[in-house]
Amino acid sequence: MTTTKLKTKILEKSLVLGNMNSMGHEQVVFCQDNRTGLKAIIAVHDTTLGPALGGTRMWPYKNEQDALIDVLRLSRGMSLKAAISGLNLGGGKAVIIGDSSTDKTEDLMRKFGECVNNLGGTYITAEDVGVSTKDMEYVRMETEYVTGIPESMGGSGDPSPVTAYGVYMGMKASAKYKWGCDNLDGKNILVQGIGKVGESLVKYLSDEGANIIINDINEEILEKIANDFGAAIVMGDEIFDLDIDIYAPCALGSTVNPDTISRLKCEIIAGAANNQLADEIRDAKLCYDKGICYAPDFLINAGGLINVYSELKGYNRERAIGQTREIYSTTLEILKKADLDCITTHEAALQVAQQRIIKKRLSI
Ligand code: NAD
Repeated sequence: MTTTKLKTKILEKSLVLGNMNSMGHEQVVFCQDNRTGLKAIIAVHDTTLGPALGGTRMWPYKNEQDALIDVLRLSRGMSLKAAISGLNLGGGKAVIIGDSSTDKTEDLMRKFGECVNNLGGTYITAEDVGVSTKDMEYVRMETEYVTGIPESMGGSGDPSPVTAYGVYMGMKASAKYKWGCDNLDGKNILVQGIGKVGESLVKYLSDEGANIIINDINEEILEKIANDFGAAIVMGDEIFDLDIDIYAPCALGSTVNPDTISRLKCEIIAGAANNQLADEIRDAKLCYDKGICYAPDFLINAGGLINVYSELKGYNRERAIGQTREIYSTTLEILKKADLDCITTHEAALQVAQQRIIKKRLSI
């Protein structure tokens, strides 16, 4: 290796350690396999409350740095999500660099399963964007440290419908807080990202009589959902200029940023996507200043985590749904706390989650 290459490596390493340090990560593992083409990063954020649980995302990241930042942010979000939901779990996440529609094979998923297994239970995986319950079946062949496996194998299956139910609860609580009534009948609601969670959310909203606007990059999905639920389709960036009451980001992160906040006319943001705020502190404050009630993502999208946590304890769907329903009351409490303390809703949720972790640390 030349000196320049070595220097670049050291710089990359300081990027990793520097970010780990500032976000409080315990461990980051890079996995590479020539035979299967696996390139993955597993991040363990905090295991104070229990083993780090979080899904695996497969995405064609532009470069390793984007993948690293994503996995670091997502795993930290999982620690907060578990903490605020009262679960005895830590936060972790994995990303596989690649296109899930062309690069994913049984061999690759099994190799990834081996990598998870090598961590000896510090990290427990599940599905996320680009990864299905079928893929978890392959991972399960190599490790027991996996949840979200198919119901036929004794698992809890796809957690997405439960995630959608939690988001729906968080959205209704936000409506109650903002408008004094949690009925969504006649409200104009934009759902961006009609994937596993987005589709289930649309069903709940449709049942309640909301006027639904849908947006996705996949036109085929849009046509189907528009036909099934009478939703209106709006393509592209124009969604941020629409006259809507609620924006539900259910695609990828960072869609709530200075540009979109300045354009959004909604009074509530409540969706499933992780890391919706491009910059947590800045964008939560921009929402606050504009009077937009932002329902913290890691609080209201915890239904899927609650569901897979139940799988670890011996799956009971009623119990998982019951616990997910509590997202309604927790959201109301957080929104009220933010109001009372004159802080952003994100800050209020962060304080409650971090306090639980600190309390546990002090008791050890
Ligand atoms: P998914 O892959 O099934 O769906 C994502 C959808 O977003 C796809 O239809 C995709 O075409 C669309 N999309 C991607 N980029 C887009 C863009 N720029 N504009 C519009 N649409 C776009 O994923 P999912 O499981 O439904 O998860 C959605 C989000 O919720 C993700 O951010 C995920 O991390 C988060 N989340 C999911 C769960 C879960 O249980 N599945 C739990 C917690 C959080």
